[in-house]
Amino acid sequence: MVLIRRGFLIAAAFTAAAIVLLSLCLSSVAAGLSSPAIFTVVLDAGHGGVDPGVLGVQTKVKESDLNLMIVRELQEDFENAGFAVVLTRTDEGGLYGLPTEGFKKRDMQKRKEIIESAAPRLMISVHQNNFVSDRSRRGGQVFYNGESEEGKALADSIQSRLNALGGCAYSALKGDYYMLNCTQYTSVIVECGFLSNAEDEKLLTSKSYREQLAYEIFTGTLAFLG
Ligand SMILES: [Zn+2]
Repeated sequence: MVLIRRGFLIAAAFTAAAIVLLSLCLSSVAAGLSSPAIFTVVLDAGHGGVDPGVLGVQTKVKESDLNLMIVRELQEDFENAGFAVVLTRTDEGGLYGLPTEGFKKRDMQKRKEIIESAAPRLMISVHQNNFVSDRSRRGGQVFYNGESEEGKALADSIQSRLNALGGCAYSALKGDYYMLNCTQYTSVIVECGFLSNAEDEKLLTSKSYREQLAYEIFTGTLAFLG
């Protein structure tokens, strides 16, 4: 009786386990169909909080605010195309906790941690440029880590789209910046325009231009991935 009962219990346990496994398989198939994230991208809006970055020459618009607005446009483009998007910052605040000594280092360290835990296909850091010794300088400029072939390819691809948008002929440039070097993931910094130039500033403060700009960065990225 005890033996029969034990055998019955073992058979029942196997059946239950098989049902659980089957339902897990079915649910993961369903999840795969409903959320086909192709790749994860990290979008980094530079600066934030007590660090506004550069200020617009005419309106004093903060670089940190423009960076986040452009990142939000990019997020929409990538998410609509089925990418999983991770943002380093989602509001105007910085990532350093309290603005005490060493805040910039803590802010950068936090960005690195977010990228590493997302393990993305690529990371795009959004900034605005400033060149007060020649205020006629305009247009987008992309930077990459000179050690990274993929970084260069991504930067070249985005640069060509930004050149087409702004009528410029810049080459993507090597840059020794923390955001390019802090992880192993393919990374670029996109300086979208010059806040030291009044025309660029005017464009960057317009939502329709930011949408256009983000779309060019997005299509440049797709061309790289394709
Ligand atoms: Zn910046």
